[in-house]
Amino acid sequence: MEVISGIGELKALRSCWMRPIGLVPTMGYLHDGHVALVRRAREESKTVVVTIFVNPTQFGPSEDFGCYPRAFERDVSILQAEAVDVVFAPSSAVMYPEGFSTWVEVEGITSRFEGAIRPGHFRGVATVCSKLFNIVDPERAYFGQKDAQQVAVIRKMVQDLNMNLDIEAVPTVREADGLAMSSRNAYLNGPERAAAAVLFRALSAVQEMYRAGCRDMTKMSNCMRRIVGEEKLVELDYAAIVDPASFEVVNSLEHPALAIVAARVGSTRLIDNMPLHV
Ligand code: AMP
Repeated sequence: MEVISGIGELKALRSCWMRPIGLVPTMGYLHDGHVALVRRAREESKTVVVTIFVNPTQFGPSEDFGCYPRAFERDVSILQAEAVDVVFAPSSAVMYPEGFSTWVEVEGITSRFEGAIRPGHFRGVATVCSKLFNIVDPERAYFGQKDAQQVAVIRKMVQDLNMNLDIEAVPTVREADGLAMSSRNAYLNGPERAAAAVLFRALSAVQEMYRAGCRDMTKMSNCMRRIVGEEKLVELDYAAIVDPASFEVVNSLEHPALAIVAARVGSTRLIDNMPLHV
């Protein structure tokens, strides 16, 4: 496994890599959710490239960039065990050299939910992913369904800008109590960690309602709000039923729909979602 930090170095080696190339962008502090993406990429690619880069431009000024958990050596040994071919771990100065001034804005979808609460977040995500796609030139890039709005933003960008790769979404990997795995779960103390599972319970409840034939979206959103509201340590940001491509609130459930939820548990922000149509 090669560990590369320079863009020129990576591009020079790239011509020797067997195709298809599968790219897995991450911010490191790897867990089984990341590993699921890596395994899917390994199954479907001749060369697997995992990037580890805590992207400063997707964090707001009051967010957790400075204290985002990092464990580079451990990450490298996890990726080695998964038979990854290349780890690309650039510095911020390599990705954003002095004078950097070009940004990718995906309009519409980024004004809703996560985009509304975290202004500039998706601009940072779309820009860094564009750069990684150009640097690595993969046939496929793998993203977690856990960050469903991110998947939708990246798919829209790839479609609108005619980028030559496929975006694959990998199902969310969960802890035993249903909490979606996330590097940010490391911030939770004992009682917060126990309370955080309420997001999964709320999503599961609406999925059950849907399976039982309920098609009343107000009832379903209210059900999520009520369940999350029962946990004193959890403060809801939003709970809604949306179109998984546009993230617009859906008015009828004839088409595939996604239940989404975001909340703060202490100072930790968690998001999760569940498709209703399966
Ligand atoms: P991050 O390092 O948090 O930026 O995540 C890197 C990639 O892993 C993103 O595409 C995430 O959606 C994905 N990911 C994070 N947590 C999970 C999870 N629990 N299950 C599946 N994918 C995940």
